[in-house]
Amino acid sequence: EPQLSGDFATLMEWADKVRRLKVRTNAETPLDADTARKFGAEGIGLCRTEHMFFDPERIGAVRQMIMSETEGGRREALSRLLPFQRQDFVELFRIMAGLPVTIRLLDPPLHEFLPHSDAEIAEVAESLGADVVAMQRRAQELSEANPMLGHRGCRLGISFPEIYEMQARAIFEAAVAIAKETGKAPVPEIMIPLVATRRELEITKAQVDKVAQEVFGETGHRVEYLVGTMIELPRAALVADRIAEVGDFFSFGTNDLTQTTFGLSRDDAGKFLPLYVEKGILPKDPFVSIDPDGVGALVKIAKEKGRSVKPDLKLGICGEHGGDPFSIAFCEEAGLDYVSCSPYRVPVARLAAAQAALHGGGDRTA
Ligand code: PEP
Ligand code: MG
Repeated sequence: EPQLSGDFATLMEWADKVRRLKVRTNAETPLDADTARKFGAEGIGLCRTEHMFFDPERIGAVRQMIMSETEGGRREALSRLLPFQRQDFVELFRIMAGLPVTIRLLDPPLHEFLPHSDAEIAEVAESLGADVVAMQRRAQELSEANPMLGHRGCRLGISFPEIYEMQARAIFEAAVAIAKETGKAPVPEIMIPLVATRRELEITKAQVDKVAQEVFGETGHRVEYLVGTMIELPRAALVADRIAEVGDFFSFGTNDLTQTTFGLSRDDAGKFLPLYVEKGILPKDPFVSIDPDGVGALVKIAKEKGRSVKPDLKLGICGEHGGDPFSIAFCEEAGLDYVSCSPYRVPVARLAAAQAALHGGGDRTA
């Protein structure tokens, strides 16, 4: 049972008095959300919804949704996923009890959702009433040479709008249910992944707004909500003023931003980065600590451009860097509003945020 107590809890209270940065958590399960709250998280900064779909009860419908060649087929699969997804958000809103909850719409590694074995293909074919050869062709069409730079994030939401519509419906229905249950409506912060252009955010935000109106009409209840974006591609940082005209908040996805700024796969970096650090080519692993001159510079550009349009634009960070003290010091100096990190990093982040507030931002070492 995670719990802070004794001198450590007192130290944390002191830290909270001096820090300016808020500390949120990355969480998608009730257990993670609950743990993070016990460690003092002040909200969820990133709920990665794709993880929810790997559940054995759901993966069949997910495969069907991706593999179906008709909108009707996709909608049928999505209608089976809706109750699960609604329940996911009901539980998170209940645990977070009015604290902010940022829900990121689906950002799947598409290849992980595709059927792989002959048995899986046969199963999808049967469930869709399609023939096996057609399904093999479909799986081939959807497979990509470079999935991490492919049909992910909002690109998928734009190709298959019904996916984001189902998720938005689940979020709003859950928020209305909690408002009825507790008398206090959560304010969901809906986040669009992998945005590179203003238009992508406009299109996906319109999908969300449309569903919000439908649910409010059907239930006779309204809830406040925000729609914002991840900034995790260099282009998004460079056109952040245009993106800020559409979005209510930015959250820096520094995992992808590091990958795309260095042109270095986040999954393979470990193979040679230690050598780079050993030789002094890089002072630190940039996937752990923000590189102030690369990703850090893009964060500052996005902040300046975004806030030139919306002075109060809410800014956070939700990559792994959000739990790293050096990066937290950078976020303090850059003027972000919050960091979001994994539940067990929350106490460290509270301390690091306090230290950064007292001693200023991180050193420039690169
Ligand atoms: C990121 O890219 O930094 C991020 C938080 O999203 P994910 O790690 O899920 O790609
Ligand atoms: Mg990302």
